[in-house]
Amino acid sequence: MSILIKNAKLNEIEQDIFIQGKYIKKIAPNIDWEADTIIDGTGMAALPSLMNGHSHAAMNLLRGYADDMALMDWLQNKIWPLEAKLTENDVYWGSKLAFLEMIKSGTTFFNDMYWHFHGTARAAEEMGLRGVVAAALIDNFQKKDMQAAKILVQKLLEESGKYSSRIQYAVAPHAIYTVSKDTLIWLRDFAKEHNLLIHTHLSETQNEVEQSLQKFGKRPVEYLHDLGLLGPNLVVAHAIWLDERELELLAENNVKIVHTPASNMKLCSGIMPLPKILEMNILTCLGTDGTSSNNNLDIIEEMKIASLLHKVNSRDPQQANAQQVFQLATLNAAKIFAIPAGEIAVGKLADLILVNLDAVSLVPGFNLISDIVYSANGSCVDTTICDGKVLMQNRHVEGEEEIIANARKVANDLVKR
Ligand SMILES: [Zn+2]
Repeated sequence: MSILIKNAKLNEIEQDIFIQGKYIKKIAPNIDWEADTIIDGTGMAALPSLMNGHSHAAMNLLRGYADDMALMDWLQNKIWPLEAKLTENDVYWGSKLAFLEMIKSGTTFFNDMYWHFHGTARAAEEMGLRGVVAAALIDNFQKKDMQAAKILVQKLLEESGKYSSRIQYAVAPHAIYTVSKDTLIWLRDFAKEHNLLIHTHLSETQNEVEQSLQKFGKRPVEYLHDLGLLGPNLVVAHAIWLDERELELLAENNVKIVHTPASNMKLCSGIMPLPKILEMNILTCLGTDGTSSNNNLDIIEEMKIASLLHKVNSRDPQQANAQQVFQLATLNAAKIFAIPAGEIAVGKLADLILVNLDAVSLVPGFNLISDIVYSANGSCVDTTICDGKVLMQNRHVEGEEEIIANARKVANDLVKR
């Protein structure tokens, strides 16, 4: 399969982009090669597609169900009771809705942690996205749950082999306050043996740090360090409440961070020290978190939120500039998840978007990256391509009406169950 995109603006010049299979084969003006599909890119700009470093896709079913609450109250009284009733079919339709929303806002990669692994993996496989799908694990320090967690993680590793190379398997202990030391150590070794990423929530609230000090006698990052969990395959979401020593430990051990500003602001969890983290060269990308704490999956909006948050927090308008946050959402994420994408270049994966330059928010068009970050939202995306396949064109995604109808039905049934 091949795609030829004609006359799209790339780095300020109109060029053609030739995609062969899943890779970008040639970029030049006036390419005259034959292609299976030709896309007229006139009036559009080509950009790398966005990457979402921390999601709970199926939580799209719970969007708007419980808002304006503090994290633990929200989790314990609203989210966890409903999640206990979820079936794989619910997760499948919730994930389909999430992936539809991602495609519509130009995101082609996600790093997900949730229940009913196959519901999410199957949805991603069908929708054509690229993702790391991890089974979330909570053992609540109970022996029988520890055993069940280990069995599940092993079983899912074997079963994950049936999906295409776009779907990567990872392990995801939910957090240090829901997963025991024994399970964490076992997961550390399991991940090492099978070369897997470990995805977790870390230092999200002040309360988590206080509990960690009380229970383990050390701060969250020190605790994970002493358990041998810190390493290049550890991806932590949030990373808000960190002292100097913890920052050094994260940097020394090449731990990766996902910044989720909208969720952190909505739940009043705190402000992650992004400028300091970038200064220390800790590899960081952006994530939305689930839609019940965001409440959307639009990484274009997330870039603006990240930028504004760190500007006002530092009282320095030069912090988290447009180019920097755009890089967090593209190239940095590609590096973290070892995916040859995040930029439009020959030999890279054909994961890219075309944005409509006539979208009102992009006019008059002095600086595309600045317009994308500060002015636009996902609705400026006209075409989304992942792995050399067109997932959306003229803002239409195949089967979207069915996804919307089924997700709405499943969500309404769930809250009544
Ligand atoms: Zn999360």
